[in-house]
Amino acid sequence: MKTADAYSRLVARLKRIHTIYTVADVLVWDEQVNLPPGGADRRAEQNAVMAELQHREASDPVLGELLGELEADQGPLDGDQRVVLRQARRDYDRAVRLPAEFVREKAELSSRAFHAWAEARPRSDFAAFAPHLERHVELARREAGYLGWGERPYDYLIDQHDPGMSAELIGRLFGRLKEELVPFAHAVVASPVKPDTAFLRGFDVEAQRKLALEVTAALGFDYRRGRLDVSLHPFCSGTGPDIRMTTRFDADNPLDSLFSAIHESGHGMYEQGLPEEHAGTALAMAAGMGAHESQSRLWENQVARSRGFWSHFEPRLREVFRRELGWISSESLYLAVNAVAPTLIRVDSDEVTYNLHILLRFELERRLFSGDLAVQDLPRAWKQASKDLLGLEPESDREGVLQDVHWSGGAFGYFPSYCIGNMLAAQLWYKLVDQHPDLEARFAEGDFTQVLGWLRREVHAQGRRYDVLELTRRATGAELSPEPLMRYLRERYGPLYL
Ligand code: ZN
Repeated sequence: MKTADAYSRLVARLKRIHTIYTVADVLVWDEQVNLPPGGADRRAEQNAVMAELQHREASDPVLGELLGELEADQGPLDGDQRVVLRQARRDYDRAVRLPAEFVREKAELSSRAFHAWAEARPRSDFAAFAPHLERHVELARREAGYLGWGERPYDYLIDQHDPGMSAELIGRLFGRLKEELVPFAHAVVASPVKPDTAFLRGFDVEAQRKLALEVTAALGFDYRRGRLDVSLHPFCSGTGPDIRMTTRFDADNPLDSLFSAIHESGHGMYEQGLPEEHAGTALAMAAGMGAHESQSRLWENQVARSRGFWSHFEPRLREVFRRELGWISSESLYLAVNAVAPTLIRVDSDEVTYNLHILLRFELERRLFSGDLAVQDLPRAWKQASKDLLGLEPESDREGVLQDVHWSGGAFGYFPSYCIGNMLAAQLWYKLVDQHPDLEARFAEGDFTQVLGWLRREVHAQGRRYDVLELTRRATGAELSPEPLMRYLRERYGPLYL
């Protein structure tokens, strides 16, 4: 009885913290989508107050006492309740062990570093950004120390995004991937087959918007519990009944708007599939960034680049873009959808060479935190790695070490999640195909319910019960591996290019 009462008090507190979080989240979404420039300073103050409120609730000593009480008497708790307790402890420790002074210092640095990066990037002026990056590395090390990971700072940073993963394990997985991916990507790039993408110009933007809404709704995104807007960089925020996703529209890049919307709707469907009755607890949280990215990638790549998907949507595309697509053959369109061309810029890259960009960043981050590489030597190391992996050497830091926003916010250990997500997406896909051999035939009829139904059950409904490794085992019956991804890339791109 005493335990049951303590547990319901814990859940009430977690729900309250979650509610504050959802308010802060809407403010951040609004900042990216609607805010007039004049409102930026006020919004910064609003965000800071929300962060303070969140931190105060999350580090309240009463919450700590509740956790202690429950941990001392776990007998009456069932499996799900123990999952909630474990996650609540993890979050609480993080909130109380980080000194308020440190949290403020990191937030201020992130804000300054972001502006320094935004100015340094167009000028390729790495020297102007380097001192901020050095500070971020130093703060990340200190943060790991506060949380008891002082000996393994990079593992701590990875664990923030993907609980259960480590640099050693990622290094092994990526090493196996690299061995097969590098020669395969080089063979595809060297192919005499060159997709023509020159026709992707002058596509009516309003029609693009209508199509993005129509396609994502057909895949299963629930627009009664979410919306699609426009921002500079596509993203997906919000939880449960209120998902805010964005894309961007460019008359000369219609596939980018469509695939960005599909990608973000994959994130959105994951959030919509988490059990809302457990909102605020680990039972309604995603399993980590790698798991999240597996959902967006599976819809974007395995589903939306398939023959079945295109045999259903191509006629619709031709209706909407009659003028723009007039003389283009089905095969040219499909090849453009699956165009492979190495580029220096990660966010512009195709799905074959994308993972090489991640391998590069993982190796550099790992060396940065092992002490093997100094911040000032990053540009040179980046150029060398880019040449080795992509066969391209950036002429400027704008196209190299300065291209991503992540490090300006101190988000180290985040990049590997993208590649973990790609591996998991392919692994989930083959399990799904095993169980539903008519999957692509159903796509051709516009039926995507088997995919969403399966993901709902195997991934979404699980919340954070398992880390990404255990989630993979349970959903696919195998260890997380790069092999399904390589099999998928060979099956998709081999027939087109080799
Ligand atoms: Zn994503």
